[in-house]
Amino acid sequence: MPQFCDVAVPVPLDDTFTYRIPENSPEPCIGGRVIVPFREKRLSGIVTDLHDREPKFQTRRLSQVLDSTPALTPELMQLGRWIAQYYIAPIGEVYRTMLPLSAEFRRVIGYHITDKGIAALHAAASAGSSLRSQKDRDHQMLEYAALNRLADGEVVREATLRSASGATKSVLQSMLRKKWIARDDLSDVRDASRTVQIAILKNAGGKLNPNQQAIVAYLRNQEGQRASVEALRELTVPRTTLQTLVRRGIVELADEAATFHLSGLKPRKLEFLFTKAQKAALNAISNAVDDRKFLPMLLHGVTGSGKTAVYLSAMQALLAKGRSAILLVPEIGLTPAVAADLHQIFGDEVAILHSALSDDERAEQWKRIRNGESHIVVGTRSAIFAPLPDLALIVVDEEHDHSYKQEEMPRYHARDVAVMRAKMCNAAVVLGSATPSLETHYNAVQGKYRLLELPERIEKRPLPEVEILDMREEFHRTKKDEVLSRKLVEEIGERLARREQVMVLLNRRGYSAFVLCRDCGESVQCKNCAIAMTYHKREHRLMCHYCGFQRPAPKTCPKCGSEFVQYLGTGSEKLEHLLHGLFPQARIARLDRDTVRGRDDFEQMLSALHCGEIDLLVGTQMIAKGHDVANVTLVGVVGSDAALSFPDFRAAERTFQLLTQVAGRAGRGDTPGKVVLQTFFPDHYAIQFAAAHDYHGFYEKEIRFRSWMHYPPFDAVSNVLVRSHKLDEALAWSGILGKWFHGTRLDGVRVMGPAAAAIVRLKTEYRYHFLLKSRSRERMNAVLRAMLDHATTQKIPRFNVVVDVDALSLI
Ligand SMILES: [Zn+2]
Ligand SMILES: [Zn+2]
Repeated sequence: MPQFCDVAVPVPLDDTFTYRIPENSPEPCIGGRVIVPFREKRLSGIVTDLHDREPKFQTRRLSQVLDSTPALTPELMQLGRWIAQYYIAPIGEVYRTMLPLSAEFRRVIGYHITDKGIAALHAAASAGSSLRSQKDRDHQMLEYAALNRLADGEVVREATLRSASGATKSVLQSMLRKKWIARDDLSDVRDASRTVQIAILKNAGGKLNPNQQAIVAYLRNQEGQRASVEALRELTVPRTTLQTLVRRGIVELADEAATFHLSGLKPRKLEFLFTKAQKAALNAISNAVDDRKFLPMLLHGVTGSGKTAVYLSAMQALLAKGRSAILLVPEIGLTPAVAADLHQIFGDEVAILHSALSDDERAEQWKRIRNGESHIVVGTRSAIFAPLPDLALIVVDEEHDHSYKQEEMPRYHARDVAVMRAKMCNAAVVLGSATPSLETHYNAVQGKYRLLELPERIEKRPLPEVEILDMREEFHRTKKDEVLSRKLVEEIGERLARREQVMVLLNRRGYSAFVLCRDCGESVQCKNCAIAMTYHKREHRLMCHYCGFQRPAPKTCPKCGSEFVQYLGTGSEKLEHLLHGLFPQARIARLDRDTVRGRDDFEQMLSALHCGEIDLLVGTQMIAKGHDVANVTLVGVVGSDAALSFPDFRAAERTFQLLTQVAGRAGRGDTPGKVVLQTFFPDHYAIQFAAAHDYHGFYEKEIRFRSWMHYPPFDAVSNVLVRSHKLDEALAWSGILGKWFHGTRLDGVRVMGPAAAAIVRLKTEYRYHFLLKSRSRERMNAVLRAMLDHATTQKIPRFNVVVDVDALSLI
């Protein structure tokens, strides 16, 4: 057996760490989990190497081997190394993200008494208390109570010690400072799999009363003469009956690992009526799957062209051959209704991974996939790490969606990881969208990705007519600053009279966007962030949309005390209110993060819309994503061009995508749809091309702009954020790094900054940033690594320097 193992631990450090394997230990394996001491703690890490090379420094011994077979396959280990390299992310944090088994490791702290503590306890017994204040005497009482509990020298868990002695966390801390007690890390592995109690029929001898007979008869009829205790409850016999049977040895109870609830559904053959273009796309995908060679494809299909049917058919075909597939969807796409549909199609072969799963449930699903019980995985971002064997196809639906980028360490983009994983296992990968990202479409144009197109809606339904409404002109005519134009109000009225449904998009929640003082000109800002607070009328409070801080709505200016405070700007809550006033008969609902708290709210709202219980739905971009409601014939767009004035090179692309997607909600049934698009920028190309349903026109214009400005897909862009709760630290550190950037030869890498971030203070942290651009990713990553090394020598913690490769959010 090798003497040493290298372990990747989940800490913000780029290295792995070497540990000695104890002689009597089971042998660890590469890709398996081990528990190791790290500083004062014990952490669960992944073994990356086994060897006999004795390090120059003193090594610690690993504490425990958790897996005798790899938890991460060689393929996933390789993918993890690529992510760490490409995104400059600590390898241990990458592996932790890939492996949803954290629920199995429980952090537990314990304490034991020290010699000093024993002496203190003895001294207290012989002398009385000399403390004067009641508070100090109370504190002392709690300390002695805790010492008493520890007096026999055993290690006691923190929770036990606190409930036995009444000592609070701060009491324990003061005892630690006096060195009366010492800490022990009792963190341990627990079996995270849920268990169920099973009743097993052993022998049915002897006389039985009717209740007992009912249970015995039931068990006798079950396969293996066993059933869960849960199931026996439905027999409506007293609970004591079962206990009596157990006591008499007729029935035995046992705990068994609960398997995920299986419905017994078998995959069902789907019969789609495909258009010619759909058939061609399906053929291309199926051929690529059968070739067992890496082939990336872009499926560019207009809204309503039936992309999903193509994916599902391709996945069914490969499932029939015993192979496996992953379908990634944006967060909002995984509603319970979609999950139910997937169960109908794939039966128990599908594992569904979404963010509402608990850690335990996620671990269970992971094990099912790992054991080969399901070959089809559907899920959000992290489902790309599903441990499927013989992966044949990865589909990334709505590939342009920003929820695929993780905005915390490791900051990976699931779409790009999908392409890399497909490449590593010779699989086909399909990126689907009605509005492909510039990067993806550029790859298709360059011939790196194969282009599949669905240029028409199914059943030859027309794309909706889009009318652009110039709000500047509207103001000239009416001399009033109205949120809703006369034209849009008129069109809504007509649809409601015809009992058709309407959606209105306003991509800002709350009632008033900000509160302004007429006397001093100040807006009310969040105490944690450099951001104006939004007024929410129902709660009558101001809220920060970034950190969640709330405060009562002020009657007077918090700065100068003036009574002339004004509530300005319109959010979705106010729009709903306005529409209620205009159409008092209509049934109006609102879909945004204030009305949708859980998954069920979202589902209920959508099904109410489907059943025709809602006439008019107001909402933020949540209403734009993928809903297919046949009776929506009008979509209004209100104030959703504000993003165009943001200092973000992706603003035009984002606006074009949002407008195209929301317009795509209109006219998906038999009646053609219409869109009224209110804007202050009627001549902007993002608005013009969205109105004309002209993706290619938009792409041509936007790609030239990106080329001139050296933005992606031509140059790679990285954001380096320096953050600290202390302003002087944030300034000093960004100054140190700025000096380094400017004093270092950076061949082919351009650095802008340091500059204050768009939100200079967020969640009480001050933020300064650098933007790096380069044609060469290798050069840029080399510069970023050298910068991090310099930060380390300057004692700037790794946590406070955030490197975001291919950054999507520059706030
Ligand atoms: Zn004021
Ligand atoms: Zn805030």
